[in-house]
This record gives sequence, C-alpha cells and structure tokens, in this order.
Amino acid sequence: MMKLKPCQLTFSPPFCPNPGCVHHRFSSPGFAKKNGITKTIKAPQINQRFLCRACGVQFSQNTFDFDFRKKLIHLSKNVLNFAMNGMSHSSIARELKVSKGSVNLRLKNLAHQSLLFEKEKNVDKISENIAYDGFETFTFSQYSPCYINTAVGMTSHFIYHNTFSPLNRKGRMTDLQKLRQLDLLKKHGAYPKDSIYQESRYIFNEINAKVDKRIQLFSDEHQSYRRAFNQTINKISHETISSRARRNARNPLFAINHLHLLYRHFLCSQKRETIAFQKHEGAMLEKVQLMKIYRNFFQPKFTKKNRYDEFAHLWSPAMYLKIVDRVLEFRDVFGMRRLRTHFKFDERENDFLDRHYPYSRQKMAN
Ligand SMILES: [Zn+2]
Repeated sequence: MMKLKPCQLTFSPPFCPNPGCVHHRFSSPGFAKKNGITKTIKAPQINQRFLCRACGVQFSQNTFDFDFRKKLIHLSKNVLNFAMNGMSHSSIARELKVSKGSVNLRLKNLAHQSLLFEKEKNVDKISENIAYDGFETFTFSQYSPCYINTAVGMTSHFIYHNTFSPLNRKGRMTDLQKLRQLDLLKKHGAYPKDSIYQESRYIFNEINAKVDKRIQLFSDEHQSYRRAFNQTINKISHETISSRARRNARNPLFAINHLHLLYRHFLCSQKRETIAFQKHEGAMLEKVQLMKIYRNFFQPKFTKKNRYDEFAHLWSPAMYLKIVDRVLEFRDVFGMRRLRTHFKFDERENDFLDRHYPYSRQKMAN
C-alpha cells in the first residue's frame, strides 16, 4: 500500500481543467472526488487522481503543477536564473546536463506562464511618468534589425510594455551585402514599414486607458513616436529628449537607458559581438518578457542603496505599484500552472502565446 504525504492528503483541486465545464472558472468546494492514485517516476512518486462530478473529466494533482508532463522537475528554476544572468542556452544545457532543446522549451513555457501571471496581477492604474524608447538589436542576422519598444515607469522602474518591431536594413552596405539584401527581399518581401508607429500607438493607447491623472511621457525625437502620439487621444503629455543629452541619472530617460544597459549586461544574446544572438523574433520576445517579470517582481529596483530613494535596494518595481508586498521568488510566480482559458488576451498577446510571427524569415517550432 502506497503512503500519501501530508501535502497530497490536503490538496484540493482549485478548478476543473476542462474549459467547457461549469467548474472551470468558478469552482465550488467538493466539485471533484478522489479517483485513485497513480505511481510516477518523479518525486513524490505518487499522484492523486480526481474526477469532476459535473463533467466527468479525469485529472490529477500534477495537472496544476508547473512541471506538468515534464520528466525533470525543478529544472525550470535554474534555467530561468541562468538565462537571466548572462548564460547562453548552450552553456545552460551543458551545465545542467540536458539538451539545448530542453532549455529552449523550458524558456518558452516560462515566458508563456509569466504572461498569464502578469494577467492575474493586472496593473489597472498608472500614476507615474513614463519613459519610452526602442532597444535596437537584430534577430538571426544583421539583415533583420529590430526594435524592442519599451515603456518603463520613471519612479518605480516598472516595465509596463515590451513590443516588437521588425526593421528593414538601411545604411551603408558593401556591394556583396546589397546583393544579399536584394536576394532576401526577393525571397521574403520587406518587413512592415510602419511597425514602430503601430507598436507605439498600441502602447500609448494601453497607457492612456490606465492613466488616472495627467502624466508625462518622455521619449527621444523619433518621428514615429511623435506621429503615434499625435494620433492618440491623450490624457498624457509628450516631452522629447535629445539623444545627445548626457545619459546620466538626471536624464528623464534614465529608467529606460538603465534597463537597456541591463539587457546588454544580463542577456547573453544582447552582448556586443556575441555568437549567442537571438535566432527568431519569438525567442527574442520571450526573453524580454522573462526579463520583464524578473526585473518587475524578482529583484529590488537597485542592488545598492540609493541616497534619493530609501527603498530602492529593498523594494521591487512591482512593490512601488503596490501589486505585491514583497520581492517574489520563483515559486510565487511559477509554483502553479495557470491555464490560458482563464484569461482574456488581445491580438498581440495571442500571437505571442501562439508564436505567430507572419513576417519572420526563420522557422520556429510551436
Ligand atoms: Zn468539470
């Protein structure tokens, strides 16, 4: 006879995993009855099974576990920490003695789950000034440059938005590079030309919908930002800062310059002259999504004490927004598996979860 551990004896399923069931969104206590146990090869070796009284669907305790259908448990935490601290996927795979495909898959799952966590924590009010700018980088090759459009809170350093804009390569090229560029254009066509404008408009609209008092949005003098701002119904005012202004802590764009510095420091794929560059738009967005969660919830705003802000080395950006009351740990965010059917997503978020990038020139598994 197998013996159940205390955590298994007390576990009661939070909802029915069947999206069509009445207990999927709103469950009542005792909606499911125990339905035997199965032996598993991973700890704790026993898995309690359940049967929904309403729809008859069977599920188990593992269904609600982040490591659902994963052979190795507790791998994801290391994968996340290593990836967010400057290690390449290959190095992580070598260090943890798993395949590179496993690392990629875990990062994808983490990124998607982190978006669901964000939905649950939902920021519905913005009451601080915003710094906005694009982080210029590339995916796969220098023929596919791109912008990560980022909106950051100037006081809290909370990252509100990250969206992706592919760019068409411009600037000086050798004759050989021009030929290669023509080849690629003939094969794939050009990237959308007004992506920065479209993405900026989307972000400005999102911010506007959450603003409860008049705030300022600071950006550099990029034409697309100005155009996007003029097309938005605004409760916010727009200030531009010259990109030649000194990039120190007094610069209104400090929060965003600081974040972009951290991208270069902490993401292996964003280091200069790296061979671990991002191979696909989707993987890039997933990585910045994870950095968003890592920065917003897992770390204090600054590592060191700050003389202008006594909480900077203690509070995470999310604590400034009063969404959480402490710096979170891996278990707090990824302790439970969230289901996509519990939340509503807009088009961009659905594309992110489906890995749908129609303009991409590379293939990526779903
Ligand atoms: Zn059910």
